[in-house]
Amino acid sequence: MFFSIAGRIESGESLVKNNSDIYRVVVKIGTNVLTQGGDMVIYEKMQDIVRQILTLHREGYEVLLVTSGAITEGRSLLARSKNNQFSMESGGIASKQVLAAVGQVPLMRGWEQAFTELNILSAQALITRRDVSDRLSYLHARNTLLKLLELNIVPIINENDVVAVDEIAEVNIGDNDHLSALIANLVDADLLVILSDVSGLYESDPKVNEDAVLIEKVESVDDYVMSIAGSAGDRGRGGMATKVSAAKIATESGTHVLITNGNVEDCVLYSVSDEKRGTFFPAQSSKVESRRRYLLSNVVIKGSLTVDDGAEEALRKGSSILPVGVVSSNGYFQRGDVVDIHSILGTRIAVGITNYSVDELGKIKGIQSSEILSKLGYEYGEEIIHRNNMTMI
Ligand code: GLU
Repeated sequence: MFFSIAGRIESGESLVKNNSDIYRVVVKIGTNVLTQGGDMVIYEKMQDIVRQILTLHREGYEVLLVTSGAITEGRSLLARSKNNQFSMESGGIASKQVLAAVGQVPLMRGWEQAFTELNILSAQALITRRDVSDRLSYLHARNTLLKLLELNIVPIINENDVVAVDEIAEVNIGDNDHLSALIANLVDADLLVILSDVSGLYESDPKVNEDAVLIEKVESVDDYVMSIAGSAGDRGRGGMATKVSAAKIATESGTHVLITNGNVEDCVLYSVSDEKRGTFFPAQSSKVESRRRYLLSNVVIKGSLTVDDGAEEALRKGSSILPVGVVSSNGYFQRGDVVDIHSILGTRIAVGITNYSVDELGKIKGIQSSEILSKLGYEYGEEIIHRNNMTMI
C-alpha cells in the first residue's frame, strides 16, 4: 500500500474534523499492520503513519507511537544474512530476545528515516511493563516522555524485549497492547488508538463469519465483552483479547480507546476526528482521579514536606513545588518516593512523587532553583515535586 506523503499534505487537506477534548494521543501499531501480513516491515506503511502524525502535529495534537516489529525484522534480517549459526526453529524466549535485539535497529532506522523525511524529530524509548510499576523508573520514564512531547519530539516506544522475559513468552505475544495502555496512563493520554488488522471488536469472529457485526461502542469492559474478545491465546480475532483487556486498563485510567483498522487510509486521522471508525471505549474515570489512585495505591508515604503560604497558594493554582517554597522536611525518603505536602499550619494538602531525597532537600530548601546545581553539584530539575506528579487531597 503506498500513499504519497508530500502530495496529500501539500494540497492543504485538513482531515481532522473536530478538536473535542482529545489532545494527547498514543498510537499503537502492531506487527501485522506494519508488515501487512508479510514477513518484514513495509516502509511505506511507516511513511503513511508518519504523514498522519505530521498532520496531527499541525493541528496541535501530541503523539506518541508504540511500535512492534522488532522480532519480525530480526527474523527477516537473520534469514537473509549468511549467518547460519542461528536456528530459526528454536523459537524459545532467548531466541526471540536475540531477534528483537537484532531487529530493533532496522525497525528504528525505518521510523527515524520516515520522521526525518517530514522534518519531525523522533526518539526511542524501550520500556518494560515492570518499569511502569516501579515508582522510580515510572518517574524517570514519565518525566522523559513528557519532556520529549514538550520539545515536539515523537517518542517511539517498544518493549525492551531483551530484559522483558514474560512479555515475549509465547502466550503473551501481542502484549505491546498492554504496554500501550500503561504508556497511555503514564503520560495521561486522552486517547489510545490501537491499530488492528480488523476493524474493531465484532460480535463474532469476522475472519470466519462475514456477517459478523462490529460493536461500535463498549461502555464498559465486563465479562461478556471479554468473552466475545476470546481467550488470550486467540489470534483468530486479531489478538482481540489482549486489545480489549488493554482497553480496560486504559479506560480505567482515564483514557479513551479506539480499536480501529490500521489498513484503512487515514485511520489515525479519523480516530481523533468525530468520525471514528472501529470500536470506541469511553474513559471510565477522570485522569486526575486515576493519578490520585496511582499515587495513593499500595504506597508507603515515606515522609512529608512543609511549604510556605506562597507555595501553597501557587500549588492550589496548579504550580509545581519549587525549593524556594519548602520550609522543612520530615521522615526518610529518597528521590522517587511518595511524600505528603503540608501547609505551614500542618494541614495535609497534597501528595506527590519527590524529585529529591530528604538529605538533598535539607541542602536546597528555601533556595532558588537556579542554585540547586551549585549546592548539590548536580540536579534533577528545578521542581521538588512537579505538578504532573502530584495530586491535591
Ligand atoms: N516487542 C515485540 C516486537 O517488537 C512485539 C510484541 C508485540 O507484538 O506486542 O517485535
